[in-house]
Amino acid sequence: YYLDRIAKLNPELNAFITVPRAEALQMAAAADRRIAAQENVSALTGIPVAIKDNICTKGIRTTCASRLLADFYPIYDATVVARLKEAGAVLIGKTNLDEFAMGSATQYSFYGVTRNPWDRDRSAGGSSGGSAAAVAAGMAPLALGSDTGGSIRQPAAFCGIWGLKPTYGRVSRYGLVPYAPSFDQIGPLASSGRDLFLLFQAIAGYDSLDPTSLPGQAGMDGELSRSIRGLRVGLPREFFGAGLDTGLKERVLAVARVLAEAGCELVELSLPSVAYAAATYYLLAYAEASSSMARYDGVRFGSREEADQGIAGMMTAPRQGLGLEVKRRILLGTYFLSPGCYEEYYRQAQKVRAWMKQDFAAAYRCCDLLLTPTTAAPAFRFAEEARDERALLLTEQYTVAANLTGFPALSFPCGRINHLPVGAQLMGPAGTETLLIRVAMAYA
Ligand code: GLN
Repeated sequence: YYLDRIAKLNPELNAFITVPRAEALQMAAAADRRIAAQENVSALTGIPVAIKDNICTKGIRTTCASRLLADFYPIYDATVVARLKEAGAVLIGKTNLDEFAMGSATQYSFYGVTRNPWDRDRSAGGSSGGSAAAVAAGMAPLALGSDTGGSIRQPAAFCGIWGLKPTYGRVSRYGLVPYAPSFDQIGPLASSGRDLFLLFQAIAGYDSLDPTSLPGQAGMDGELSRSIRGLRVGLPREFFGAGLDTGLKERVLAVARVLAEAGCELVELSLPSVAYAAATYYLLAYAEASSSMARYDGVRFGSREEADQGIAGMMTAPRQGLGLEVKRRILLGTYFLSPGCYEEYYRQAQKVRAWMKQDFAAAYRCCDLLLTPTTAAPAFRFAEEARDERALLLTEQYTVAANLTGFPALSFPCGRINHLPVGAQLMGPAGTETLLIRVAMAYA
């Protein structure tokens, strides 16, 4: 059913870069056998999952939406993929993204843009736009994305589905191609809170292969149906100011009213560090990206065919396969880390990051979680907004705080503006994934 649906819709939406039909059918047959024998059956046995194409899949092409990796077939599975296989899930395809996850509209992909299923002239968001569009259009019931600065939550909001950025370290990054490693987290996308939780449970937990992996089980279990009465929900002023679409603001405040009726206490508060979130994020993310991308030195990845001019040629030839946005970020990041700039920019940004963590930790002493919009407005039109760097930057300010602090954040659908879905965001302190999903389910 899902393969047929992909065959029908993918030519127009372009959510998938690779669909390994034969492998998927084999995995489905193996799942059928497991179910028939009643052996090792889990909630995900036989369930198709789409995987963002910056997550390594053994023997299945993993391009990061780059020309440079057009022929990269990993020799190992990312830990999340290995865990899904153990659970009996079916890998139905590799989804489109901005090249190396650098972008907000799935428009910087060597394999073409991904279109929003609700409006084909608009972006599905990014960088996990392929994963969000696949779930929203019913081409896969579940998907994995990666979120460095909002790349799961913003496309989930634009496509009218659920998306979770877990606590930093909760889900293993082993086998995720790095963009900005101190921010990157893999997380689930799904069309309901329950589905989202099941996928999250299957991929989360300690992994010795990821040195930043968290021990313990915080946020991974618990009950989704427990009452939310008595919880304090913070509404941070900075997330409701200028630049926010008025219709969207109304819808998020309507969520707050529903939560209040269910017995939550609403707390108004201020998070002054948020004003600097987007600038701090981009500076640090570009700096880290310039270091992550140093691995594409012509030795292990990319084509060597044109590289017969010695070592310089070997190093430059594969880099011709990188898109302009990626090159721009490598150059800016290298600049921020250069002598002189390092003190003036990079160190300052690290200080703001530390302050922001304190600012949020203080907020979580006066409330249990925070409710905000996920984005400033519904999905951008390709023609205009997606090319407007300033508009893109403004949108990031709602999502990047959770990456700078490492705390978990969830986007869930909170209605429509005309025909376009919009999302609300819940954020909480480390290890509150279950709580965030539970509260959102009390609304949705
Ligand atoms: N839009 C942000 C960026 O371009 C976030 C991307 C992401 O989360 N991968 O860096």
